Amino acid sequence: MSACLFCRIVAGEIPAQLVAETPEAIAFRDIAPKAPVHILVIPRRHVDSLTDAADAAELGAVAQLAARVAVQEGIAASGYRVVTNVGEDGGQSVGHLHFHVLGGRALGWPPG
Ligand code: AMP
Repeated sequence: MSACLFCRIVAGEIPAQLVAETPEAIAFRDIAPKAPVHILVIPRRHVDSLTDAADAAELGAVAQLAARVAVQEGIAASGYRVVTNVGEDGGQSVGHLHFHVLGGRALGWPPG
């Protein structure tokens, strides 16, 4: 059994609200949403963070799924944000690469 929370979601060992999937990536609702739409898009394969993402095709698949999910959730026209936090200063709390897809309200900038 993997110790990685998101690997366990990929394996179906921990339940998640799946919204889309491809052979390379899955998308599910964030358990503590920070916006009306807050979805996490992750590679199925374990990658620690963006810094460690060496496979351009895999990274592209994750980015494409993020865009597809935004369309699917109806936030593409109004606008949305895709964020990946990296490391301690970046605020990364789960050590498995994930893109946050946030939308459904006007988002502040710059982030805190
Ligand atoms: P980060 O802080 O950028 O690493 O983002 C991790 C995100 O994972 C946070 O927004 C959490 O709310 C979310 N999260 C943690 N556990 C779960 C879970 N079991 N299912 C869905 N989202 C989760």
